[in-house]
Amino acid sequence: MNTNTENILQQSTKFIKSIGPKRAESFQKIGIATIKDLLFFFPSRYLDRSTIASAAKIYGYVLNGFEGEVTIIGKVEDIEKRRFGSKELFKVKMRDASGFFDCIWFNGTKYLQNVFSQGTYYAVSGKPALTKYGHLQLVHPDFDRITEDESQKFLNTGKIIPFYRLSKELRTTNLGDMSLRKIVSSAVEQYADYLTETLPESTLKEDQLMGIIEALKNIHSPESREKLDKALKRFKFEELFFIEMLVALRKYNLRDLLPGFSMKVKSSLVRDFLKTLPFELTKGQLNALSEIRRDMESIKPMNRLLQGDVGSGKTIVALIAMLIAKDNAFQSVLMAPTEILADQHYKNFTRLLKDFDISVSLLLGGQKKSDKRQNLQDIEQNKSDIIIGTHALFEENVTFNNLGLVIIDEQHRFGVVQRSKLVTKGVAPDVLVMTATPIPRTLSMTVYGDLDISIINQMPKNRKPIKTFLRGDGMLPKIYDFIVEKKKVGYQSFIIYPLVKDSEKLDLKAAETHFEELNKSYLSSLSLGMVHGQMSWQEKEDVMKDFANKKYDVLIATSVIEVGIDVPDANIIVINNSDRFGLSQLHQLRGRVGRGDKQAYCILVTDDSYASKTNSTSFNFEYLSNDQIEKNKTAIRLQTMVNYLSGFDIAEVDLKLRGPGDIFGTKQSGFPEFKYADITKDTDLLIRAKSAAFKIIEYDPKLTLPENKLIREALIENYKDNLDYAKIA
Ligand code: ADP
Ligand code: MG
Repeated sequence: MNTNTENILQQSTKFIKSIGPKRAESFQKIGIATIKDLLFFFPSRYLDRSTIASAAKIYGYVLNGFEGEVTIIGKVEDIEKRRFGSKELFKVKMRDASGFFDCIWFNGTKYLQNVFSQGTYYAVSGKPALTKYGHLQLVHPDFDRITEDESQKFLNTGKIIPFYRLSKELRTTNLGDMSLRKIVSSAVEQYADYLTETLPESTLKEDQLMGIIEALKNIHSPESREKLDKALKRFKFEELFFIEMLVALRKYNLRDLLPGFSMKVKSSLVRDFLKTLPFELTKGQLNALSEIRRDMESIKPMNRLLQGDVGSGKTIVALIAMLIAKDNAFQSVLMAPTEILADQHYKNFTRLLKDFDISVSLLLGGQKKSDKRQNLQDIEQNKSDIIIGTHALFEENVTFNNLGLVIIDEQHRFGVVQRSKLVTKGVAPDVLVMTATPIPRTLSMTVYGDLDISIINQMPKNRKPIKTFLRGDGMLPKIYDFIVEKKKVGYQSFIIYPLVKDSEKLDLKAAETHFEELNKSYLSSLSLGMVHGQMSWQEKEDVMKDFANKKYDVLIATSVIEVGIDVPDANIIVINNSDRFGLSQLHQLRGRVGRGDKQAYCILVTDDSYASKTNSTSFNFEYLSNDQIEKNKTAIRLQTMVNYLSGFDIAEVDLKLRGPGDIFGTKQSGFPEFKYADITKDTDLLIRAKSAAFKIIEYDPKLTLPENKLIREALIENYKDNLDYAKIA
């Protein structure tokens, strides 16, 4: 970077014409301290000819039933304030070359009186309608002041006008839309040429990106829509490029800083074990295994994510990896998200390994002191080969003798950060993370970009696709009949109610009420069990065990039943108030059934009118505006469950509905936030930025070559808070 030009850009905004110390202070409040910051204060919106229509045209649209939003540019003709029933009405009469139209506001109109004055020009946007007298009218429109000159230029030459977010901090120093526009525009004119390019020459060329100066100028004062799009693309690319740089650095640093162990299949242990299984591994399982084997053989530590839908058979894959570790005299750890699951894995493993000379131990928080002491001693003295527990395993005083492999089941609960903590414990064991929550491609390239990924994309043979229905609660009696009917052929059922939030007492009561009602009415011929939010995990587990042993035909649950519990004959799940559950929860719940070879059913219940409305509308993302998506989230969730079985498809929808931060807790992961790019939409750019960044890190992992000096400096300047994420100092 040229120090001289950089110094100029680092000056305070107060040196800019018509800013001065006072306004500089209010700019500072919204994070704009330097001239450079001001250059990167991008418009929040643009007015361009393609989004504008004349009053006469809009009049015609409305007559034809048009219901969207429009923008009109007009001159204020007259202003009127009067009472309208109990309300206050503020009306601005405007005109453009084609005719008149009104903008009206109700109540709280005081500030408007100082905004509009006769003869000024505005661009107004909103939903048009016709009054009963046939006047074109916009109710509560957004408005932007423009000059007559801008309006002329705009209409005659098609110039695009930028609008900047005018926050209240700026307004207090008498800045309006027009003066703000002028200030930014003169700053761009005067200073943009001092900017230095931040992307490598070769990347600019290969990806056909606009240079930084031209791009910045076109962001603020676009020569055309095409140039504006190219400029935006450049800044999105740049952002994604630097973020992928961080991801690449993290990946290479985690892998290359610490040496790992090389483990090979040495004996017939794995082969002998496979012979004892009553089934053959699926192709997906075999593929995952061969990838894991390759990683284990390499001296570089494995950092792999194993993704496979609920019931796809990840556990066996994990167990085999642990056998390979044993073959090389290393200990393995399996970390489960809950104690119930840890216990289930433990019992499962002991059963599967009973004919082999392998010792499995279970380490839980709630264990008897003496048991625990014994376990800890066994682990330390290398008497345990496989250790199963929860995350407490890494918080307590466990001394491993020879830890070679760590497997984390259902990782997202442990977070992205903890995973790296594990690796920095002085040793670098191989790490395999397993999840049933599919990670959409965009996230596997960003938040999870440092992991290698294996996917089990098929279910064991003989499984039939689960049938899912959305039904109104008026149908419940029929649903109960169905449960009774199916019991005759050995089916068990779950009936789920949402957890009563914030009140364990209420939750208990709700569970008991449902239980008693069903017990004496529709389901009186069956035996019912119950799980609710006030039970301890031990109590819940006992009930689950009884259910699995067929002591109950039906399990009523108000708390969400644990993930991963296997009940092969449970083939019906009824989810009441299903509109109150999130998508991934619904998917997890549905995964409780369909684990055997019988046809399984998932019945989502909501109130009658909602169910029939949702069943009769079909939502297609491609044609929905953000607004419509926002309004129909619940219906979209339910329809997604009815239409899709694959966790992958469901996760894609979930990502669109909720955004990445919410789903994966990226906010706590140290992962940078996106300013320009939207990873759910800019997937293609993301792929290209990733490939550009990884290419550079592959040949220059520490960014020490002279041609990459620029990147290094830009990273340090713009992402200093995230360098810890990338594991570089
Ligand atoms: P998840 O991927 O959800 O952890 P599990 O590993 O618990 O799934 O496997 C679910 C069930 O499927 C278990 O009972 C397991 O024994 C069985 N299973 C695993 N692999 C196969 C296979 N290849 N064929 C048939 N059944 C399998
Ligand atoms: Mg599992």
